[in-house]
Amino acid sequence: MPQLPKIALIGRANTGKSTLFNRLTEQKKAIVSTIAGTTRDRNYGNVSWRGLNFTVIDTGGLDLVHDKNFEQDVFKQANFALAEADLILLVVSAKDGLMPQDKEVAQVLRKAKKPVIIVVNKADNNYLKKQIEDFYRLGLGTPVALSALNGSGSGDLLDVIQTKLKKKAKAPKIDEKIIKIAIIGKPNVGKSSLVNAILGEERVIVSSVPYTTRDPQDTRFHYQKIDWLLIDTAGIRKQVKINDRLERLSVDKSIDTIAQADVVLLVTEADKPLGRQDQHLSEMILDQKKSLIIVANKWDLIGEKDEATINKFTAYYRRFFPYLAYAPIIFTSALESQRVKKILDLALEIYQERFREITENALDKFLKTLLKKHAPARGKGVHHPRIFGFKQTRTNPPEFEIVKDFASDLHYSYLRFMENQLRAKFGFSGTPIVIRARRIKL
Ligand code: GDP
Repeated sequence: MPQLPKIALIGRANTGKSTLFNRLTEQKKAIVSTIAGTTRDRNYGNVSWRGLNFTVIDTGGLDLVHDKNFEQDVFKQANFALAEADLILLVVSAKDGLMPQDKEVAQVLRKAKKPVIIVVNKADNNYLKKQIEDFYRLGLGTPVALSALNGSGSGDLLDVIQTKLKKKAKAPKIDEKIIKIAIIGKPNVGKSSLVNAILGEERVIVSSVPYTTRDPQDTRFHYQKIDWLLIDTAGIRKQVKINDRLERLSVDKSIDTIAQADVVLLVTEADKPLGRQDQHLSEMILDQKKSLIIVANKWDLIGEKDEATINKFTAYYRRFFPYLAYAPIIFTSALESQRVKKILDLALEIYQERFREITENALDKFLKTLLKKHAPARGKGVHHPRIFGFKQTRTNPPEFEIVKDFASDLHYSYLRFMENQLRAKFGFSGTPIVIRARRIKL
């Protein structure tokens, strides 16, 4: 399944992401406007430059944004880019100069270990080109000045992109066979107790060799003949030691920890109602398309349990997280080591689901049955959609593409239906699934 490297354009509203997208892909695909936040279409475009092919994503055009919350847009984009892209272009404006929000986003990007290029756009003349100096302060290497509008400097940018992508391709892939887990949750739900309980399990062997390529904060261990990495273990412990009250929900920290993981454990307290923070964290995990296990900890505090108790709690969790139906829920007690080992077994299972590949043949059959069962519903347009093909385009997380006619609009409920049918037939437990529609002109 060959995949093109992905490059995401992120940046504050109106820094010129769509114009740059057009410049790079040389087409008028993005709807360009000077009114902040007007691009709403999905923007993916393929670029070929001196033998190198890659996909550019204009995150400003993705539907990542809550209208009420403009200042958070760029963080949403960063979140998406950290999860999806091989290289991130942070677009800033020579005309505006260095803005506080540029600095905040750069801080998030510096912590994550993804290659980044600072693109100083709107450097339309020599005076503006000089403004580039300021952006060294972002600490993300040499910025590239260009004018997406008149095209000057865009060749230089493509050369830098080429160098960065080549460097990345050459880097040894040490991470390949290591399952990376992050433990996320609001303060006091029992994260560090769970870490201790997991690492204290008889068959879990904690490695004494430091994992040199990553943070010393991480803990490497061996279980079921597989290498595992608990992301930011020390961070979890340290925060508790200092002072519980000091442990605030630091958004950039959580984004970063989630970004590095394959599987995220969202730890909650079974004995207390779920709340806003649990929801917020779950949204971040969902945005980054990570595999997820919902952990209902402190199960020992629930008295007089019978067979119906788990069902009752499961129903409550499902109602609270309706968009996380794919995530398994596990009821644990870190204190009594109840089902702690099962967390790892479950994590291994859903890790494998994340990398599941369905053959073309199986998907062809699947599509035929599906179309018979339920003809595709129409969206906004007048035409009835015609679907020609369905294929898997990647794993980690699994991504599928529906090939359809150009003119019609497919109703989103049909995509939902397809996802449910895919899960019913092939599994994919714990992992989000992405289904995109590709329109073709006949
Ligand atoms: P963290 O802030 O999420 O890392 O939470 P801690 O692991 O520090 O736990 C917070 C408090 O909850 C401590 O007093 C723990 O002893 C307690 N705790 C953690 N897990 C459990 C559990 O499964 N059952 C009970 N009864 N208490 C727990």
